[in-house]
Amino acid sequence: MGALATVDADKRDVIVSRNPLTGAVLGELRESTAVEIRDAVSRARGAQGAWGKLSVKERCSRVARFRDAVVARAEELCDLISAETGKTPAEALSMEVMVIADLATYFIKRAPKILAPESISLHLLKNRGSYLHFQPRGVVGIISPWNFPFGIATGEVIMALLAGNGVVLKPSEVTPLIALKTKELYDASGMPTELFQVVPGRGPAGAALIDSGIDYCIFTGSTATGKKVGAACGERLIPVALELGGKAPAIVCADADLDRTAKALVWGAFANQGQVCVSVERVYAHQAVHDELVQKICAEVDKLRPNDDTGSMTWERQTEIVEERIASAVAAGAKVRTGGKRRGTGLAFAPTVLTECRQDMDVMRKEIFGPVMPIMKVRDEEEAMTLANDSQLGLMGYVFTADRQKGKRLAEKLETGTAMVNDCLLTFGAPETPWGGVKQSGVGVTHSAHGLRDLCQSRHVNYDRIALKKELWWYPYSDKVYKQTLKMMRWIFR
Ligand code: NAD
Repeated sequence: MGALATVDADKRDVIVSRNPLTGAVLGELRESTAVEIRDAVSRARGAQGAWGKLSVKERCSRVARFRDAVVARAEELCDLISAETGKTPAEALSMEVMVIADLATYFIKRAPKILAPESISLHLLKNRGSYLHFQPRGVVGIISPWNFPFGIATGEVIMALLAGNGVVLKPSEVTPLIALKTKELYDASGMPTELFQVVPGRGPAGAALIDSGIDYCIFTGSTATGKKVGAACGERLIPVALELGGKAPAIVCADADLDRTAKALVWGAFANQGQVCVSVERVYAHQAVHDELVQKICAEVDKLRPNDDTGSMTWERQTEIVEERIASAVAAGAKVRTGGKRRGTGLAFAPTVLTECRQDMDVMRKEIFGPVMPIMKVRDEEEAMTLANDSQLGLMGYVFTADRQKGKRLAEKLETGTAMVNDCLLTFGAPETPWGGVKQSGVGVTHSAHGLRDLCQSRHVNYDRIALKKELWWYPYSDKVYKQTLKMMRWIFR
């Protein structure tokens, strides 16, 4: 066992899952030990042998049964997601369960084509042919966060299975019950039980998973943990996709439709109580429209109904971070225009709008991951772009303008994995688009054809299309061949 595998049987701990709105205990479970995690990986590997040999089409038709189970038991899933995370049932359905039903359907239809061998036409060596073929990696280890405990983890599980892999999932310790429910639905759908395993636990269980012989790792979580995971995978030469933190800027141009922009920003900042890696975390509003935009945003926030539109935050520590960010911004001169504190029972937090923010404040520089929208007035679009790109993080960025061409031009200048014009958040729900960050927001992509192929080894075969007796570049070397090659080179690269 490697140095990172620190979960020992005698140090086993209990994880208590609670409803963040009521504090009620939803369930208790034991953390997996390092030995159990290693065993789960080896059982998944055992089942993967036969699974990986099935045609992609056959895998798709079997995974479709799992998708059907998700659709059939959607309400049960939404109730549990809502209870364990505090999000509204509407968000549990539209942002998690529906996203998975769609992602599964999309890849079930298209995986055979995406994973079919791809021919490479050789531009010089015309007597030879090349193609790529996509082989399962083996066992994929998935380490996931608590903010979309079903929508993130299950999409990765489904894509890894379609690619022919076994999967071991280490869910967040904050939301373990949803992962266990996913496994229950998976088993009930008739999929090979051993092929997909869930190993609940805290950080050390994630470290133990990386140390258990997995062949690929998908990590979604904070940048700080992502660096440790990247280092642990690097040490073992395990390829890894890191989906990390964000600090999404929104640039509001002077020509933006302010009614639409205000509604979009309010949704983009406060959906899922701001606990979205691509939440609107800082707004740069052109000075010509700043005051009117702030008024419209506050008016939209006033219309939000507690419980129906905005649920609760998911865990206490994150709620404290939000309070710290607001307090430090206020101490540095920001003004609270609405919200600013917890409301009602549990971890529900009022949607908060801050103005008079400056780029040097923590609230503009560090991830908030809560329902806070800091706004800063800027001179022009150029200043907005400079400030938007003045960040270590680069997951998502937004531009609001009535001029579509200008919107695209500005979006291309944003140093982010994805940039959207005149809307927020939703490309996570578009499985054909790549999901991933630049800078310290991550490495690699999930979703899209690229994400599916990354779950395979891309192997290259090169073969003879025309068999000659002898190739020009073989032994013996001679002056004659040298001169012929030189002549040919000068003719080709003339
Ligand atoms: P986190 O980094 O605290 O934990 C993520 C997961 O890593 C958990 O399962 C945790 O138990 C595990 N873990 C902790 N220490 C580990 C270690 N040393 N080795 C292996 N695993 C370890 O993140 P979180 O609080 O669960 O999630 C919030 C963060 O995730 C935010 O920063 C958010 O932006 C980010 N996030 C990113 C995306 C994305 O797609 N880029 C999506 C959702 C969330």
